[in-house]
Amino acid sequence: MSSEEPTDSSSADGEPPVTDGGTESDSGVDAPATGGFDQKATNTVDPEIPDDSILRGRNVVKEYETGDQIVRALKGIGFGIAPGDFVAVVGPSGSGKSTLLNLLGLLDVPTRGEVTLEGTDVAEFDDAERTSRRKEVIGFVFQSFYLIPTLTAVENVEMPRMLDRTPKQTRQRATELLERVGLGDRLDHYPDELSGGQKQRVAIARSLINDPELLLADEPTGNLDRDTGDQILDLFDELREEEGVAVVTVTHDDYVAEAADRVVNLIDGELRESGDHAHHGDSDGQHENTASDTTTDGGGPK
Ligand code: ADP
Ligand code: MG
Repeated sequence: MSSEEPTDSSSADGEPPVTDGGTESDSGVDAPATGGFDQKATNTVDPEIPDDSILRGRNVVKEYETGDQIVRALKGIGFGIAPGDFVAVVGPSGSGKSTLLNLLGLLDVPTRGEVTLEGTDVAEFDDAERTSRRKEVIGFVFQSFYLIPTLTAVENVEMPRMLDRTPKQTRQRATELLERVGLGDRLDHYPDELSGGQKQRVAIARSLINDPELLLADEPTGNLDRDTGDQILDLFDELREEEGVAVVTVTHDDYVAEAADRVVNLIDGELRESGDHAHHGDSDGQHENTASDTTTDGGGPK
């Protein structure tokens, strides 16, 4: 990650690249078009941010300070995630994907702008509240699973509830979840006795132990072959349909992006909606077709 230079320095006037709203940079470069994710000052595209959003972001800017340098990782983006959504986030390394997932996962708060969880600005939570809300609402799935090798499948699934004093219910729920993901016959297997796809399914079961409304996945199919990845996608579909779980996933796999309702392209901290597979055929389907040509002038911050 260290080799990418933030390209903010194109604004060259000797000033550090710090400003207020974060959207003054669209002075004629690509003005990203949007969808349910939305760029603050873009004008013509209906942001389609649904009212029943679990999470909502407005003008979200995230900056990191390192020494005397400020990296603006997100430059004023908006988004809304509704129950049952399936959003794929794509973009080159360093474009802000992990930063966005951290914000969606209540692991961090924006530098400016607002992220609201079911109507409450997450900045109003103290750390303890944020942690408990995270636990109630959000499940995390990672590319590398992070299963604990000395625990069995069912024990790994129970992990997020280890401190709860309801071991019986927890065991029952963990067992149900493993059955749900097709691993009812692997409860007592250790991670190294499971295939990659099975491990990922254990990780997904674990992410569901607290009945999240939103599943955040970072490259969930990244280590898996195509067939196994398809099984993971099928599982996501079931969870969305049967339990209304929303899924936001970072992915480099085209077939995952194709399965998503919406593809959000992050480029250097800015969003570009590049497809809406659920609602349109998105005929020629390439990433460029919603880009910028007609909407560059932004019209100011309102
Ligand atoms: P991606 O996940 O798309 O690769 P990141 O969200 O990790 O991108 O990073 C976006 C930008 O923010 C990059 O320029 C990265 O170097 C910078 N960045 C990310 N995390 C930090 C941090 N903790 N401190 C300083 N800079 C960071
Ligand atoms: Mg990343």
